Amino acid sequence: MRKLITLPGRPELGGIAFVQHQRFECVEIRPHTTRDGRRIELVRWLSHCTDCGAPFDLLTPRRAGPVRVDRRRCAEHRDPKRRVKVPGGVAA
Ligand SMILES: [Zn+2]
Repeated sequence: MRKLITLPGRPELGGIAFVQHQRFECVEIRPHTTRDGRRIELVRWLSHCTDCGAPFDLLTPRRAGPVRVDRRRCAEHRDPKRRVKVPGGVAA
């Protein structure tokens, strides 16, 4: 069974969240307009690849409630088959 992996939807800037043992730090909160014209905020998280430890960042929509994490590895080690679009029309 697949575990649901989530981060908090409304972190503080500089906030730290753990997904299992992987650390994610909220390094930026910024406004964003989606392709269909909606204004949202995005959270940029900094983490390290679960395979090699290289840093990578992850964008999630800022909203109430948890958000799904669809990347836990750097660009080199991510599995394209597991690529999922972030809700809100932003490609991760
Ligand atoms: Zn890697």
